[in-house]
Amino acid sequence: MVAALDALREEVECCSNCALGPTRTKAVFGEGDPGADLMFVGEAPGYHEDQQGRPFVGQAGKLLEQLLASIGLTREQVYIANVLKSRPPNNRDPRPEEIEACRPYLFRQVEIIKPKVICTLGNFSTKLLSGDPTGITKVHGQPKATVIGGHPLYLYPIFHPAAALYTPSMLDTLKEDFSRLPQLLSQAAPQPGDEAAAPPAAERPAWTPPEHLRRDVAPAAQPRPVASDDVPPPFEEAPPVEEAPWDVDELPPAFDDDAAQADVSPLAAEDPFVTPDPAPRTETAAGPDVPAAPPAPPSEPEQLGLF
Ligand code: URA
Repeated sequence: MVAALDALREEVECCSNCALGPTRTKAVFGEGDPGADLMFVGEAPGYHEDQQGRPFVGQAGKLLEQLLASIGLTREQVYIANVLKSRPPNNRDPRPEEIEACRPYLFRQVEIIKPKVICTLGNFSTKLLSGDPTGITKVHGQPKATVIGGHPLYLYPIFHPAAALYTPSMLDTLKEDFSRLPQLLSQAAPQPGDEAAAPPAAERPAWTPPEHLRRDVAPAAQPRPVASDDVPPPFEEAPPVEEAPWDVDELPPAFDDDAAQADVSPLAAEDPFVTPDPAPRTETAAGPDVPAAPPAPPSEPEQLGLF
C-alpha cells in the first residue's frame, strides 16, 4: 500500500499532463495515514501548499485540524488530498481540463487507500467524486453510498473550511456536519449495491442508513454477520440549516491565507472554533454580499486567498 502510494507520488511529481505542471513550485500529492478509514479531498493547493508540497498547511488547514481535534483525530490519522495536485495561478478555480488531467491520480489514491468515508470539501471534489453536478449547499451533510475503483465507501460532502472561515453561518454548519463524522465512521462500510438504492442527492430530504444497518426494518433474507448489539445507531440527518445569503456554490471564498503566518491568528482563542470577525463586504461580480479579502502585503501580491 505504501509502496503503491509512493510510486504514484513519483508519477505525480513528474506529471506535466496539464498546463499547471510548469507553473507549480511543488506538486501536492497528499499525505496522512495510507490505511485511514477517513479521507478528505479538497480543491487545489494554494500558495503555502505549493511552497511546501503539503496539503492544507495554511489557515484552512488550521481550521481542518481544529475540526479533526473536535472529533478526537489528528491529521496524521486521516488522509488528506486534493482534486488538483498543482496550484492554479493566483488561486483561480480549477479548469475542467485540469480536473480531467488530475482525476486519475485521485481515483488511484482512493483505490489504494480504500477509505470507508471520503469527506469532500466544497464543490469541486464533491461534484467530481459523486459524478453529480448538485452544489454543496444542497448536498452537504448527506452521506451517499458509492463505489470508487471497485471499492464501496460513503461520500460525505461538507463545506470547504476556507469558505467557512469568513462566513459564520457556514462555519456553524461545517462544525455540525463534522460532528456527525464519528457516527458515520462507526457504521459498517457500505456493501456493493447499496449505492443503487440511494436516490439522487437532490431528491433526498434525509439520508437513511442502508437497510442492513437499520434497527427498524426486518433483517434481509441473507443478513450480514453483524451481532445486533454491535449495530451502531442510525446516522442522524442534520437539521435543515439556513442558506447563505448568496449562492455559495458559485462563490470562491475570499480569504487571505497570509494570516496563517501572522502571530495573532483569527483562529487563536479558547474556543476551538472561533468565528473570525466578518471581513468587510464589497460589491463584486460574484454578488453584492461577498466578503472582501483583506489587503495583500504589497511585496507578495501572489499570496492572496486559498483558491
Ligand atoms: N485548499 C484546498 O482545497 N486544498 C489545500 O490543500 C489547501 C487549501
